[in-house]
This record gives sequence, C-alpha cells and structure tokens, in this order.
Amino acid sequence: QAAPTGNGDADGTKQAAHFVFVPLNELGHVIPAVDTALLLATHGAVCTIVGPPSTVARVRHTVDAAAAGNSGLQVRLVEFPLDYAAAGLPVGADEADRIDPAHMMSYYRAVALLRAPIERHLREHAAPYPTCVVSDIFNPWASELAAGLGVPRLSFFSMSAFSVLCQHNLERFGAFAGVEDANAPVVVPGLDRKVVVTRAQAPGFLRGIPIPEWEALADYIERARAEADGVVMNTVLEMEPEYVAAYAAARGMKVWTVGPVSLHHKGAETLASRGNAAADAAECLRWLDGRDPGSVVYVSFGSIAQPSPKQLMELGLGLEASGHPFLWVVRNAGAYDAAVRAFLDGLEGRVAGRGLVVRGWAPQAVVLSHPATGGFVTHCGWNSTLEAVTAGLPVVTWPHFTDQFLNERMAVEVLGIGVSVGVTEPITFRSVEKEVVVGRGVVEQAVRSVMGAGEEAEGRRRRVRELAAKARAAVQEGGSSHANLLELVKRFGTGAAASQG
Ligand code: UDP
Repeated sequence: QAAPTGNGDADGTKQAAHFVFVPLNELGHVIPAVDTALLLATHGAVCTIVGPPSTVARVRHTVDAAAAGNSGLQVRLVEFPLDYAAAGLPVGADEADRIDPAHMMSYYRAVALLRAPIERHLREHAAPYPTCVVSDIFNPWASELAAGLGVPRLSFFSMSAFSVLCQHNLERFGAFAGVEDANAPVVVPGLDRKVVVTRAQAPGFLRGIPIPEWEALADYIERARAEADGVVMNTVLEMEPEYVAAYAAARGMKVWTVGPVSLHHKGAETLASRGNAAADAAECLRWLDGRDPGSVVYVSFGSIAQPSPKQLMELGLGLEASGHPFLWVVRNAGAYDAAVRAFLDGLEGRVAGRGLVVRGWAPQAVVLSHPATGGFVTHCGWNSTLEAVTAGLPVVTWPHFTDQFLNERMAVEVLGIGVSVGVTEPITFRSVEKEVVVGRGVVEQAVRSVMGAGEEAEGRRRRVRELAAKARAAVQEGGSSHANLLELVKRFGTGAAASQG
C-alpha cells in the first residue's frame, strides 16, 4: 500500500497533480492524448503515460522531442507487456499499423489485463502518488484502475462537443425508435438547430460495429463514461459554447475543453513527430516552399480510412482535373496493387510538379500550417477537422464512419467552413467493398469551390480564419483552454501548482 508521497511541501500539504494517461493505440486517440499530457506537464503536472510496448513506441519520439526542448517536463512513459496467450491474441498482432478487426476483441482483453500490473506499478513506484486517471473511452477498465488507486478518473475525448451531444441526444430520446430504414433522415432531438442524420451515419456512440461481442464492450464503455468524474475534451469552447454547455448539463459533469492541443507544439520538429517518426517532413516542406501562398489543397483521410483502388484513382483524377496544386497522402500505399501504384506514378508525371503524392504518413499539422496550403480535403476525423480550423483552412468534407458524419454537419452547417462531396452512407472501417462512391467530377467541383474565388469561398475563408483566431486565443494566457489546463492541474493536485508555461 503506497501512501501519497508528494513532491511539494515536506508536510505533504501540497502535491503536484499526477495524471496517469491510459490512451488507446489508435493514432487519432494517442496523438491528442499525448499532446494533452505534454500540455499538463508544461503547467507543472507530472504525467505518466501507460500502455503496452506498441503504444508506448508510438509516442516515445514525441515525448522525447518535447522533453529535449523543455528538460523540466515531467512526462514518464511506462510500458507493460501484453499477455497474448491469456487474451487469445496472436503474438505481435498489436504491433501492426492497425489492429485487424478479427483480433479487436482479444486486443481489448489483452489491454484490460494490464490493469493489475499498472496498478501495482503505480502503487509501488509512482512518486508522487497519482492524483487522477485520464482514460481513453475505449479503456473502460480504467475506472477500476482509478477506483483501485483511490483517485478520480476523467474521460478523454478528442471529439467535438457537438458530435457527442448529438449522439447522446439521439440515444436519450430514442430518435431512431421505430425507424426501420437505416438511411431514413431523422432530426437530432434537443438541439438549437435542425440537424438531420440517418441511423447509418450516427448509429449511437460506438454502436453498429460489426464485431462479435462489440455491443457488450459498447455498454461497458457507456457505463464508464456515465460514471466518470469529468471530461477532458480536445475542442475550443468559443467554437461551440452552446454544445459544450449542453453536453456538460446532459451528463451532469464538468467538461474541461483544452484544445486545440496541437497548438502546444512550439517547434515544427515535435509537431512533425506526431504519430509517426517516419514522416518525411523535410520533403513536404521543401515542396510546399516552392508553391504560391494559399494555392495547395491538402488531401488526407487520416490514419484508418482506406479507399478502394477504384475510389483512390477516381479521387486522383478529380484532383488532376481541378487544376489546383495538391499534396495528397495515400495511406498504406504499399498495400495497393501494381495498377494503383502505376496510376500514382503516372499521375505525378502528368501533373509535373503540381501534385505531390506522399505514400504513407505526412506531418499533417506542419503541412496545414504552411502558408502555401489553402484548403483540406478531409475524412472529417475530429483531429483533422480541428487541425483545419486551427490552421484557418476551409475544408472539403468526405466522411467515412464513426463521428465523421456529425463532424461534417458541424463543419458545413454549424461553422460554415466546408463543402460536402455528398457521401450519404458510411464506408466502414477497412472495407473496400464499395467501389466508387464519389466521382471525379464531384471531387473536381468541390476542390474548385473551396480553393476558388467568389463570395461563398471568401465567406468560408473568412469564417474559418475567425475561428482560427479564437482557437489561438483559447490556448494563450487568459484563454479558455489555457485556464482549463491550469484548473485541472490545480484541482487534481492537493495544493496550488505553479504554472511554468
Ligand atoms: N495524421 C498525420 N499524418 C497523416 C495522417 C494523419 O499526422 O498522414 C494525423 C492527423 O494530423 C491527426 C491524426 O493523425 O492528428 C488523425 O486523426 P483524425 O481524428 O483526424 O482521424 P482518424 O485517423 O482517427 O480517422
């Protein structure tokens, strides 16, 4: 039994906050969680990030780069080996770029088995004693970890308050009850505006995922969410104040908005290191340096979505036809067949310097903040959407699954910063069964519309720049996210911690 040791006053009356982060090994989750841990550490907290070696390996370079720039940062990484056999997970199955859906449940089982070793480690070795657990929603077992340690637990969401409120209201008011057709439009209840979705687009939080045993996990996650002591959210209060307030009220818990957490990175090096050390930042930046300001459209579908070969080629032809310079990230390019690889080479040859295809991973936040970048074709993952706002870039919205349709509604209808390509049905996780959902002509038109001149395009640019200014203000001294970070450090320490940042 470890007693709180404190690292403040000798009498133990003051202890720095010590947040234990339990992230999920998906890049869209782990990247903002690590950014948040770094931010809290900048304000004087101690942060320990725990997880299996495969998770820790993904974040080590970012933490090391940040620590090198600020040697006082107290961010610790502690890895715990998975018991593959006990969980029925093939050895090393978690070390791939993405967990195969076939192994998803045994992966969650294996990670959940880390609770006891993590708790033991923290009791025996953590000094100061932890004061708060910050867990990814996909790690509901962290509620038992927090209870075992005798400390509060916060849920960490890198999602918009708008999307979580919509999901919450759709479930709470049974909006889809009696609606047979999964593609029938339904109005989201309890909002200040009319937002229409289908059950296929917003099936309920983590619902409708075709993996056996998933519903039981979704129930467990919902219980853990409902019982949390609060929420830390990577969003900007001033961008969606009514939805932050409404979600906090609906849940009856405090929501600390701390975004955009990507703005924490002061240097391009740590920013470029997010997610994947293999990023060829220098090549992207050199290429962008040679383009006119605001001329390049950046195209990326995040870390999970994978277009079918035909859709990929159709998208490429649309970019070519748009006439605009483009920087296009093709995730997992090596997994496509020779025909696709030849198509990409041919495309680059034809557009002769006007287009750069990055095969794999791009330093996205750096690319978005480069002056040459003028727009973003995005799958509407929340991190990407918020990073677009942060960079002041209008978006072409092309949602695939999970919260992405709701993020599209937010970008297009609530914030007025996007043009939709008009996808109506989700394209699930890695499925490539749909061939071409969006034709080249639609891509061409959407890109021209977002990148072009004219009143509507100017209006989108003006609005997103205003939002970018709000986002920057939020993280500065006196801003809402800055104040929330300080409050977290104070609230979850046993005394007032001094800000270093
Ligand atoms: N990202 C990146 N380079 C890439 C693709 C993605 O840095 O080539 C980052 C992106 O900046 C964002 C995250 O990965 O922070 C993707 O998260 P998002 O929520 O947008 O989508 P997801 O990958 O979860 O679908």
